[in-house]
Amino acid sequence: MEKLKQAILEQGIVVGEDVLKVDSFLNHQIDPQLMSEIGQEFVRLFGDRGITKVVTIEVSGIAPAIFAGFFLSVPVVFAKKSQSLTLDNDVYTSHVMSFTKRKEYRITVEKKYITDQDTVLLIDDFLAVGRALNGLIDIVRQAGAKLAGCGIVIEKGFLRGGDLLREQGVCVQSLAIIESMADRKIIFRETPEGGNE
Ligand code: 5GP
Repeated sequence: MEKLKQAILEQGIVVGEDVLKVDSFLNHQIDPQLMSEIGQEFVRLFGDRGITKVVTIEVSGIAPAIFAGFFLSVPVVFAKKSQSLTLDNDVYTSHVMSFTKRKEYRITVEKKYITDQDTVLLIDDFLAVGRALNGLIDIVRQAGAKLAGCGIVIEKGFLRGGDLLREQGVCVQSLAIIESMADRKIIFRETPEGGNE
């Protein structure tokens, strides 16, 4: 998605070897116009898959997920990272190692919000080695729901998480795939017009 790639090039800051800060439009301040176009792009890529629910993970997945859900006219559910007071048998639980904070956390979704009747589109802001997405996929499987695919705003292709999932048959579509951030220079992977499944 050209507009997104332009925003990354103009506003993204490479931190260390493998972290990209895009706080000015996605991770702190949010650009609603860009998020709206991102949501519409996810609809173009996944709109024919019979999606009944968009599922993401707090916090930064919520903005793109809301717009995808808005344009698909389906509810948006976000997995919670904080401990809730809900009884454990009322929630699906998975464990995720955080890429940016380097610690493990528990994610939970109340069972009533994803059922075996659902066809789920997973959305997240970043895909690195794939742990967040695998945690969400685990929850979709526990619910007995159908996984329609995964829509990612920014994939760090050099960390291989997306390609590993694609090799396992999961439909992963990323709107920008970064192939290299060496020497703080961002280089995108060339992807076909219709998507990068
Ligand atoms: P993964 O679980 O695929 O290794 O990492 C993806 C998760 O970590 C995303 O939910 C995202 O919040 C966070 N993340 C990974 N890499 C980056 C990055 O370069 N920048 C930001 N802002 N978040 C990242």
